[in-house]
Amino acid sequence: MSPARWVCLDLDGTLLRDDHVDGVVRAVSERLAERFGVDAEALAAANETAWWEYWTEVGDSWLRGQIDPESLPTEVWRRALATVGVTDAAAAAEAHALHTTTESTALRLYDESAEVLRRLSERGVPTALITNGPSGLQRAKLRATGIEDAFDVVIVSGEHGVHKPDPAIFALALSGLGATASETLHVGDDLVADVGGARGAGMRPVWIDRGTAAELPAERPETVVNDLRELYGLLGLD
Ligand SMILES: [Mg+2]
Repeated sequence: MSPARWVCLDLDGTLLRDDHVDGVVRAVSERLAERFGVDAEALAAANETAWWEYWTEVGDSWLRGQIDPESLPTEVWRRALATVGVTDAAAAAEAHALHTTTESTALRLYDESAEVLRRLSERGVPTALITNGPSGLQRAKLRATGIEDAFDVVIVSGEHGVHKPDPAIFALALSGLGATASETLHVGDDLVADVGGARGAGMRPVWIDRGTAAELPAERPETVVNDLRELYGLLGLD
């Protein structure tokens, strides 16, 4: 197979570490527990349950940018706090604000991310970011980690009303790049959104296995990397 000419990348779990989330919820729960006199562990567990329940209800709309981006995390904290007996209306907003500031200081790129983006740019390989999430949240992550100008094209699902794995979001990136799908890699950590999505769009999917997947896929994707520097070989760069 000839080397690929264009590269699309996912953000969370691919370029940006996402293994800090549990730590953020725990830290916020501890602060709230002190403030409201409740059990921190019970609150953190309630947050996890509330997250999955509420995500099932509104996650799709949230990714499409159809609901106020702040409403989802605030409602999750409202439900979690209610579970441990805190029903003060201001508490959920306070919890969400605390969560946002705690998370913003915990954002970290993977070790090789900046180097790989710089090298691709230097070698004239056009790149697009394709990320699922609300505009404000995803763009704040790019700014906080200094990679907002590292891509030729940035596609955030919340700005377009469509999210991975829908082929339409990949088509937006391809058209922005002027790229041919069959000669474009899409690199991501999610087997459904990224690998399945890219395959459906006629691109070459690359699964990045960061070793954090809850379970191994039944069917191993064709191209698997553990580090973004492995892309150099797929692009014919020495
Ligand atoms: Mg991801």
